[in-house]
Amino acid sequence: MSAISLYAKPSATFSQKLEASKALLISGAAQFTPITQASSLGVEDMVVTHLIAETRISSSIFVLDTRMLHEQTLALIGRLEERYGVKVDVYQPDTVVAEQFVATNGKDAMYKSLDLRKACCDFRKMVPLERALAGKKAWITGLRREQSNARSVVLAIEPGDDSGTGRAKINPLADWTNGDVWHFIAINNIPYNPLHDEFFPSIGCAPCTRAVTLGEDMRSGRWWWEQESAKECGLHAAEEPPAFESLSRIKITEISA
Ligand code: SF4
Repeated sequence: MSAISLYAKPSATFSQKLEASKALLISGAAQFTPITQASSLGVEDMVVTHLIAETRISSSIFVLDTRMLHEQTLALIGRLEERYGVKVDVYQPDTVVAEQFVATNGKDAMYKSLDLRKACCDFRKMVPLERALAGKKAWITGLRREQSNARSVVLAIEPGDDSGTGRAKINPLADWTNGDVWHFIAINNIPYNPLHDEFFPSIGCAPCTRAVTLGEDMRSGRWWWEQESAKECGLHAAEEPPAFESLSRIKITEISA
């Protein structure tokens, strides 16, 4: 059964959300130059790339190739370039650092401790991310509020991310539902990762992503051996609102990353 047949179901206010998302992208691109899209090649990011093309805003697109992605994920880069006539900027980790890390800690280091998992995310994602965002005034993401508790505070536009540079983050899908996303994919015939049809709702690096079963949370296939509060990689950081202060202060992270 395809992900489209399972999930494509627009919410009652989908049309208004779509117009608001386009308006946000247009105003964001006018306000912040240069601007770039951080694409994990997940389904939300494919929607965002389509909206960027449709609104004709001037935005580059980049992908963090951790050298640990599924081949189905990497194949999407060419499909996306062909469909939209764009060149995707690909950022990879430093080869020497990667080889030293694996030689010292093993290929399965991420399962050994939270510190090693975070260290792996740091040199494979965070360091390349800084290179990708250097000089940019804003970045566009596919974050949605309903993706997890940790993302329930996602705002449509965040005036400054955690980099301390005043760089803004624009989240045009902040209030979209999963049904909205798949509906938009279906009606526009947007290419998407075939792993989504194999019960991988959230796709990251191959060693840290698994399929989920019916009834499991959408992000339960990511870092499934860790506590929920630790399940982000550092790409998107935000603090929980006061209502959640009784819980530990959660760092929001990942990319569709
Ligand atoms: S998601 Fe897993 S493989 Fe990818 S960078 Fe993080 S720890 Fe390493």
